[in-house]
Amino acid sequence: MESKARIVRKIPEIVPYDITRIIVGELDTNCYLLSNDEKSTLLIDPGADGCKIVSKIDELLLKPVAILLTHGHYDHIGAVNFLAEKFKIPIYAHHDEIEMLANPDMNFSSMFADNISVSAEPISQNILIELGFPESKIIDLPGHTKGGIGIIDRNIFISGDTVFANGGIGRTDLPYSNVKMLVQSIEKILKLPDNLILYPGHGGRSILRQEKQAFACFCALRLSEFR
Ligand SMILES: [Zn+2]
Ligand SMILES: [Zn+2]
Repeated sequence: MESKARIVRKIPEIVPYDITRIIVGELDTNCYLLSNDEKSTLLIDPGADGCKIVSKIDELLLKPVAILLTHGHYDHIGAVNFLAEKFKIPIYAHHDEIEMLANPDMNFSSMFADNISVSAEPISQNILIELGFPESKIIDLPGHTKGGIGIIDRNIFISGDTVFANGGIGRTDLPYSNVKMLVQSIEKILKLPDNLILYPGHGGRSILRQEKQAFACFCALRLSEFR
């Protein structure tokens, strides 16, 4: 007797094309690929492992249009020159971060890696519109470094090393860090919508709603020290 053929319903694999995380380098830095509907893609913080990033771009058929840096520390910029050259794309960062990016002593690559010097151009909202990301917004988040930024696109919030999941706060014990500025930046983050998904520079993601209490405690504690 012939058995009835079983109908196997194939569940489509859901790949969120709008943001992809690639963990790179010795410090497990998060490199993010932020794509629009046309698959034009911003490469955010390609810290190392350029070939790994390229193979992900190829796999997802993405079209890189620019590199965008949340800040200038060496663990976020190791593959920048390689990728800028490969895809012939510009590099953008906050204007206050451009000196650090160019200087291996300031970005610490001279201490912990091969010297890295990146020449970036200052980012603006107009550039993001020209690149096809009219919904992306830059939020200035100085403190961990002088020209740190975050990127907000729809419900995505890429925070660099300013804040992390599980109440993590960026380091301010480093040269060119400033705790008072970091507190002000975190106060800005506290005013952002609760439903943003936090994509930090290291570690997994979280929902901002879950993190706000810990961030507010940090601010209150540090503010009491300044008084
Ligand atoms: Zn950093
Ligand atoms: Zn980092």
